[in-house]
Amino acid sequence: MSSKLSGQRQLETKSVKNQQSPSKEQDVGLSAIDQGRIDLAAVLRWSARLGLNEGVCNHYSLEVGPDRYLINPQGLHWSEVGAADVLLIDGSGNVLAGRHSLEPTAFFIHSWIHRMNPHARCILHTHMPYATALTLVEGGRVAWCNQNALRFRGRIAYDDVYNGLALDDDEGQRIASQLTGADVMFMASHGVTVVGPTVAWAFDDLYYLERACMHQVLATQAAAGRPLRSVPDELADRVGQQIAGERQQSDMFLASIKRMLDREEPGWSALD
Ligand SMILES: [Zn+2]
Repeated sequence: MSSKLSGQRQLETKSVKNQQSPSKEQDVGLSAIDQGRIDLAAVLRWSARLGLNEGVCNHYSLEVGPDRYLINPQGLHWSEVGAADVLLIDGSGNVLAGRHSLEPTAFFIHSWIHRMNPHARCILHTHMPYATALTLVEGGRVAWCNQNALRFRGRIAYDDVYNGLALDDDEGQRIASQLTGADVMFMASHGVTVVGPTVAWAFDDLYYLERACMHQVLATQAAAGRPLRSVPDELADRVGQQIAGERQQSDMFLASIKRMLDREEPGWSALD
């Protein structure tokens, strides 16, 4: 009962803060854990539709309480993860609830980012094609040539060191230390990590990051050596602030994704 109440309070606070239009998918009365399971399943499935996944690899995680996290399970393609498949684990990677196992190496990066970056309640790690392409370029950086990129002004960290797979705590800790308060981290020769206070905000940033990188890569190809346009710093900062003031769009985007899944993939949000 208490978890139901706390979940409802959290939703009410959030909807006021974000001026969000409540949708039936924001199920009033759900616990933070169940709401998190639904949110993660929605963005995992939508990421698969957009081709942001690889095989059965990569993870999305969400902090739902002290030393409590949700994460997608081992062996399931993102397109087949339902809310009931999302695991509840602790910070050591022990599965506390769920019918699947956790990939043993899944949590080395996520656990340290969660622990060392309190603002990173939701952590999305992908090898999505266009953003990853930038990590393969020596000195590859997001160019301020594109409106979609300007929302990331002052919010990006670049880890220019590549040490192979992150299979131990030392490498996980090193990677986590590179985030340093940013919301986006480009990981050299590897992929990207996007973090945020909610699944909706982190996923919206992930989506627009890939769009920005796609435009940049295409523009670079089209430029044939000519320079990309550059938005002046003062204007770029102002546009970044403007977009930050429209954050209700992030919540509405996730709500629309849930409606599309309801229509096209019934059962995706079932909790058992
Ligand atoms: Zn990776």
